[in-house]
Amino acid sequence: MNREYENYQRYIKGDRSVELYSATKQQADRFLARLRKTGGSIDPEKEYPLLLRRGVYKAETKLTPYWIKIPVYGVKGGINIPIGVSEPIPDGAGMKQAELIRRDGVFYVYMVVEKEVGERGAQNVIAVDLGIRHTATVLGTRDMHPKFYGKEVRCIRAHFFRLRRTLQKKGAYGAVKKIGSHEKRAVNNYLHVYAKRIVEEAFRTNSVIVVGRLKGIRMRGGGKGRVFQRRLSSFPFYRFVEYLKHKAAWLGVKVIEVSEAWASQTCHNCGCKGFRFGGYFYCSGCGHEYNADYNGVCNILKRGIGQDLSQGLLRPDTAHHEPGRMRTVQSSNEPGTANPPGWRGCQPELDLLDSAFNIIAITSGVTIYDAVYIALAQQTGDKLLTRDRKQKKAADRLKIKAELF
Ligand SMILES: [Zn+2]
Repeated sequence: MNREYENYQRYIKGDRSVELYSATKQQADRFLARLRKTGGSIDPEKEYPLLLRRGVYKAETKLTPYWIKIPVYGVKGGINIPIGVSEPIPDGAGMKQAELIRRDGVFYVYMVVEKEVGERGAQNVIAVDLGIRHTATVLGTRDMHPKFYGKEVRCIRAHFFRLRRTLQKKGAYGAVKKIGSHEKRAVNNYLHVYAKRIVEEAFRTNSVIVVGRLKGIRMRGGGKGRVFQRRLSSFPFYRFVEYLKHKAAWLGVKVIEVSEAWASQTCHNCGCKGFRFGGYFYCSGCGHEYNADYNGVCNILKRGIGQDLSQGLLRPDTAHHEPGRMRTVQSSNEPGTANPPGWRGCQPELDLLDSAFNIIAITSGVTIYDAVYIALAQQTGDKLLTRDRKQKKAADRLKIKAELF
């Protein structure tokens, strides 16, 4: 394997005389052709990964269930090598290509696995707001309790910042450069952990994840303060969203991005403009003050709900309710219609969403779907006819006429 790997490196770097398995040679040629097209060049110091098409397979052996077949020049059928995996490959996942790379004398295999995932119909929405103080603030319509992620990242950043400053004062610039990658790895590690927790919550609560679109996020905070600027420019928002999307796709959880412009400057309660100071948001309209990240995530959740309704993403939970439940609201113009006005196709009425949002905030355990029906009944003044006890209870609490049938 060492010989084949080294010959591959030499071939890529221009030595055409090496003995190499023919398909591997072709692969190297393809790689070089792609490189020429994009104007890239070969770094003589670097080792390039050997690509293995469908090289990894599973076998019932005592040693390890995972093996890799590496075609080698002059060896018929190639060689089979047992491999250890960092995490078990899920059932039903197909092994795609693999890359073989050597680092400090140890061989590693990077595998691409592929799985068919059905998209889940969502009942709830989980909003994710990205920020400096809290890497991610999360608010779900299921329980309406905000969760704040980011303490660990904050600690890592502070630690490395102090370390860098000390090293700089001593003139140890080489060391300063080196610790950068340590910091990145430590932060990345937690970004993965946060993303995993959020996606798992979404999966458990059958939610779609709504995340503020990253465009313009660097504008946030108005560029005030050196400390703020430093943290903002070095925060890897982009990577975090990529992890989130990737983990969500794996579980069939949908992620939608909504505009986050003004999410941090608008009051989620009254919609007026306000200002941020420290970790707080002060509203000029209703005079309230809120945790700034909480206010931001509320706005994203509101926007997410709006987007959901117009896309028709939220569906009733058919496992728990009778199909007849679709016709629980008597609308004044079209009795028995399945879709309330603005449900699909056209832009939902914002005040309907606002009321639905408030209903969720006041009552616990109602889904967005329930809340919209209750809000609609409230607006039209019609009686809410429902087969769902939870919906009835929520309506009762809000003094909206409701009847179980
Ligand atoms: Zn306000």
